[in-house]
Formats: sequence, C-alpha cells, structure tokens
Amino acid sequence: MDIPCKVNAIFMDYDGTIAPVDVSREESRVFPEVEKVLIELSKYIPLAIVTTKSLSFVKPRTESFAHAWACSNGVEIVLKDGRRFVPCEVYEKERYIKEIVTLARELLSRYDVFLEEKWAGTTLVGLCIDWRTSKNPPPRELVEKILQEAEKKGLKVIRYEGHPFVDIFSVAYDKAFAVDMLKKILQVDEPIMYLGDSENDNPAFERVQVPVAVIHHRNRNSPLKAKYRIEQEKLPELLKKVLEEVRR
Ligand SMILES: [Mg+2]
Repeated sequence: MDIPCKVNAIFMDYDGTIAPVDVSREESRVFPEVEKVLIELSKYIPLAIVTTKSLSFVKPRTESFAHAWACSNGVEIVLKDGRRFVPCEVYEKERYIKEIVTLARELLSRYDVFLEEKWAGTTLVGLCIDWRTSKNPPPRELVEKILQEAEKKGLKVIRYEGHPFVDIFSVAYDKAFAVDMLKKILQVDEPIMYLGDSENDNPAFERVQVPVAVIHHRNRNSPLKAKYRIEQEKLPELLKKVLEEVRR
C-alpha cells in the first residue's frame, strides 16, 4: 500500500524505530542514513520524538533534528527552546515509584539486569527493567511480581511482547496523550505521520492519519495497529519521499 508522504509533521518513537532494537544503551544511535534525512526534513516540518525513554537518554541522540520530545511515555514534554510540560500528578506519585525501585533492586540484585530510573528534572517518574543482551536474565516470575506490586499501587505498567524489557510509570499516560499534546504545543494539523515499532505505539497509531509500523525481526508478529507497514531498512527511502513532498 502506498504510504501518503505529504504530511505536516512526523512524530516518531526512538527505540526499534529510528534506532536498532538489539543494541546496548551505550551503543544506541539513530541509524546514520535515517538521521541524515531527518536533519534535512527538520528544516521544513516539525519532528518530535515520542518515547518511553527519559529525556537524558534520548535528547543527546536526537537533538540534531528533533524540535520536541515527549519522554517517559508523555509524562515530560520538552521543546527545543527549553519550554517544559510536566503534570503536577507526578510529584504526588513519586513515592510509589520510589518504593518499586527499592523493591526491584532487592529482588533482582543477583541478576544481570539494568534498572533505568526515569527522571523528569529532579522527580522520579518511571523505571525500566531491561535484560536485553543479558547473560543472566531475571526469571519472568520475579519480574511479574514487581509489576503486580506496581499495579497494586496504581502505577502504569507496560509489558511488551517479544521485547526483553518492561516499563513502569507513576502516571497513566500513553502515546496518544503525547501526540495530542505535541499537536497542540507545536500547532500542527493533520496529516501527521507517526512511526513506531511496538504495542505501546498503538494508541499513537490510532491518533494520526498516517500511522506507519516499522518492522524488524522482533515485532514481525506483534499486534500493531498501524494502517501502513514498512521494513526497517526501507525507512530512509520513505523519509526521502516525504522530503521530496515537503520541498514541493
Ligand atoms: Mg520502540
């Protein structure tokens, strides 16, 4: 199916979408071919990152082209000019997420697992339990125990089919909320293209006119609700078509 390339903005996920899915955090970078086109595109239309990752992780990797970042699943929205939007609720709920971090540290100390704390400024807003590239991954039951504890506290838990990590957030937002906020703040109208690669992108896919699932070996069978699909290696080609259209 032909993907409409005349769009007013592109909102995109980071991990597995514009960056490889199976590399360590330290090595994670935007695909050079993709970054090159995005830098060019950023001169014409707003580009924003919509991610469960924290700002401190994603901003240094995408600031060559992004105009805005919706981080930690929409909990923290930051614009290039420094404006920042964080809901008051995160301050009230910080203690619950802190309790979960303590629990995870206790239960998972014997395993090779990365516990990424997600901060919005000086407030703890989330935790990612990540065992990708791990030689001694934690048993699934143990991870599940932590997730159930988090749910009991009213925190938002995101499980990913086929992905070796889970996310916990203090506030129950999703990527659709992030997309709505970005539309408003950046003052862009449809059609907007959204690029994503996992189930947590589904709410965003359903929010825009041009939702595109970026397909790789980890998500080939995931239940993605995007109208359009593209193989990851074809992404530079698609972006070049968008560039041609916006230059017209
Ligand atoms: Mg992703």
